[in-house]
Amino acid sequence: MRLSKSVLGPAERDAVDRILRAEFLGTGPETQQFEQELATYLGGGVTVVCVNTGTAALQLACQACGLAPGDEVLVPSLTYVASFQAITAAGATPVACEVHPATALLDLEDAARRLSPRTRAIMPVHYASSVGDLPALYGFARKHGLRVVEDAAHAFGCTHQGAKVGAQGDVVCFSFDGIKNITSGEGGAVVTRDPGVAERVRDARLLGVMRDSENRYQRKRSWDFDVSHAGWRYHMSDIMAAIGRVQLRRFEADFRPRGVALAQRYRERLRGMPGVALLTSDLGPVVPHILPIRVLAGRRDAVRQQLEAAGIGTGIHYKPNHLLTRFRSPHPLPRTEALYEELLSLPLHPDLGETDVDRVTDALEQALALPAVLAK
Ligand SMILES: *Cc1c(COP(=O)(O)O)cnc(C)c1O
Repeated sequence: MRLSKSVLGPAERDAVDRILRAEFLGTGPETQQFEQELATYLGGGVTVVCVNTGTAALQLACQACGLAPGDEVLVPSLTYVASFQAITAAGATPVACEVHPATALLDLEDAARRLSPRTRAIMPVHYASSVGDLPALYGFARKHGLRVVEDAAHAFGCTHQGAKVGAQGDVVCFSFDGIKNITSGEGGAVVTRDPGVAERVRDARLLGVMRDSENRYQRKRSWDFDVSHAGWRYHMSDIMAAIGRVQLRRFEADFRPRGVALAQRYRERLRGMPGVALLTSDLGPVVPHILPIRVLAGRRDAVRQQLEAAGIGTGIHYKPNHLLTRFRSPHPLPRTEALYEELLSLPLHPDLGETDVDRVTDALEQALALPAVLAK
């Protein structure tokens, strides 16, 4: 049983075929359509700019917020290395913060201790699709004059206090890689209500060529152009946008209810199981991208081996960034390290059924029932 997988069907294949037949493959009318449909879906009058990965979205968001060398960004250490690489790609310095063990979300009290005169932004990570206390986070940012770049790679389609994640933030970044809540093959998006940020991201994804997007949307390009800022080839291809548009349509009807039902089943089966603890999340509005649990008493690796032996794929989200050579932190993060030793992600994707969940939780229960010595 796979930990995660892309779920694609004939509609996606037909959409790709349609683009191939048009023989125009770059950012074009299909990307513009996808951006408009995403903006309508998210609500709140946002502008959506699509790029080629979630990592590129985070980098361009940081750049568009004016981050420069020497500027510091508060970010939880417990995130995919993409968040950290994106911050450094924009020239800024990530400052690793602790997470709450109960939620695996950024600990604002710890973040407050890491503030310096160079702190310019904060990047919360919506781990396992939970956003936590966003009003408190935005209050913190306002108080200290920080931009907020939300790493919402896990949280597409989730809601917070009645609004979609992305509808109300400062700058919110999504990933549409193969296994996220929706995929465009590879892809990402920057979502904002700040027109300056949107325009800078739009230019920066196309080598910094100013207002080139308007031409590209009409399958044209700019010949007499100007460039005032750094830019990259981070645009979304129309092939990707075509896949993304189909997935967006499937999300509400299909992926959301299935993801929520599977997560609910996991919770029912895992609640009260000795030896494991669940992360607290507001399950109702959450469409979980991953299903991490905590395996207590130092037994995570043994349990993981047992599950793998039973043919059940598992994952560890994530190795904390401050333990990586490139991002080694001058301060220890003991709570993050302790949580990391416990985290185990169980299979979750829309092609699973409730009987698959039962098989996983039964195998987990069996592994936990083994005496600790034998399980080694
Ligand atoms: C997937 C992911 C990203 C990066 O997205 P890509 O599209 O793979 O570049 C960033 N942050 C987190 C937390 C992710 O899970």
